[in-house]
Amino acid sequence: MPSIAGGLFSAGRGISWLRLRRLQRPLLSSLSAGGGSDAPHLPVVIVGAGPVGLALSFLLAKFGIKCTVLERSMEFTRHPRAHFINNRTMEIFRKFDGLAGDIERAQPPVDLWRKFIYCTSLSGSILGSVDHMKQEDFDKVVSPISVAHFSQYKLVDLLLKKLDGVGFQTCFPDELGGSSAQDLLLENKILMGHECSSIELTDDGILVGASFNNGGRMQERKLHCGLLLGADGARSKVRELAGISMKGERDLQQLVSVHFVSRDLGKYLSSERPGMLFFIFNPDAIGVLVAHDLEHGEFVLQVPFYPPQQMFEDFSAKVCEQIIVKLVGWEPADIQVLDIKPWAMHAEVAEKYVGCDNRVILVGDAAHRFPPAGGFGMNTGVQDAHNLAWKLCLLLNGIADPSIIQTYESERKPVRFFLHAFCSFNVNISATNILK
Ligand SMILES: Cc1cc2nc3c(=O)[nH]c(=O)nc-3n(C[C@H](O)[C@H](O)[C@H](O)COP(=O)(O)OP(=O)(O)OC[C@H]3O[C@@H](n4cnc5c(N)ncnc54)[C@H](O)[C@@H]3O)c2cc1C
Repeated sequence: MPSIAGGLFSAGRGISWLRLRRLQRPLLSSLSAGGGSDAPHLPVVIVGAGPVGLALSFLLAKFGIKCTVLERSMEFTRHPRAHFINNRTMEIFRKFDGLAGDIERAQPPVDLWRKFIYCTSLSGSILGSVDHMKQEDFDKVVSPISVAHFSQYKLVDLLLKKLDGVGFQTCFPDELGGSSAQDLLLENKILMGHECSSIELTDDGILVGASFNNGGRMQERKLHCGLLLGADGARSKVRELAGISMKGERDLQQLVSVHFVSRDLGKYLSSERPGMLFFIFNPDAIGVLVAHDLEHGEFVLQVPFYPPQQMFEDFSAKVCEQIIVKLVGWEPADIQVLDIKPWAMHAEVAEKYVGCDNRVILVGDAAHRFPPAGGFGMNTGVQDAHNLAWKLCLLLNGIADPSIIQTYESERKPVRFFLHAFCSFNVNISATNILK
């Protein structure tokens, strides 16, 4: 059996300059105590192939760290959530083999999304209109790259292409066979349809249980790894299994998210009142419309609802269409509701980002969940990944002490104080803008 140090060192083939400077001392002392018989075969397992898990896999691959990604779904969701990419994330994406440029070229023209509009209906009175772009954004005073407006699912598609370029493969249970596939065969793979369902601390690492459906039969694959990174979203199973609780305010608002297309509506808004976000209030309906792509008529409508008087089940496609018409103010002939999902708004942060003796690390929504006002969730998650990846690289190559992982928590956790205040400010400012 290889030692944990041997197993983990072999992860870092891409950075020989680091290996030359490797320290002559036990790696990950807190992980290697005990000398158990089952040494980890995989340096890193990431749970969750959302934007944050994928960004982290890419960065680790660039550093030569082999990892395996577990994704419980069999397909990547097409329901758009995030769309606003801030300067810092775009700066990070410049290092993703041209991803920032790909986004800039593929996003809608900026004049179609630079405004927030407050109105009684999409064809009714405008109560307020705010242009969120400033000349310094175009002049690149604050940052060498501008913010972007690009649907989350399209970003995930581009991240998958970048991962393909660094040798990652997406695999399905029927391509991998039974539960006994060798760990090494799972390196640099995204295992679709694999749900992380258990973790067990061993003397040498973590034994991760992933359940999957193999031809109608549920099976469990065991992966032994040195580090487990929880990028599994707001209801993180990894966080739960590691016994890490959330602190903050829960269930601030229940919402229904309606993904729909209407080229008629896109054409109308492009010519009459182009914008990114429309806050719509009238006696018959309220909602926030996110214009993901006016040129293609792609929208997401957020409608608040109030249990127990209203339940998610009340929002059939027909009901959603009726709400859309009330908010538009006329009846587009071509509305097609693609998907309806419930979600709850929280303002919470994990009590710690690192647990289980430095072996489990939370990133993205698994570590924090913000109200969407301001568009910070995914941005903060990608920035978490960027902060963490190089530290893992130094740790796994024996350059840094395990205490470097604590700097991830101490640097990233304070960000949430600022962001929670900023999100609340954004929610309030939305209300005051109406009065302007
Ligand atoms: C309406 C709305 C608008 C938003 N707008 C913005 C915006 O403009 N900008 C912004 O930055 N953010 C925005 N956000 C937030 C953003 O969508 C999230 O912060 C982002 O999706 C978090 O990414 P993630 O990868 O951490 O988690 P997720 O995207 O939730 O991905 C987690 C992945 O883990 C998988 N998974 C879960 N459990 C398991 C398990 N046990 N085993 C294996 N896999 C598992 C899931 O299937 C999923 O694929 C918005 C959110 C909403 C709801």
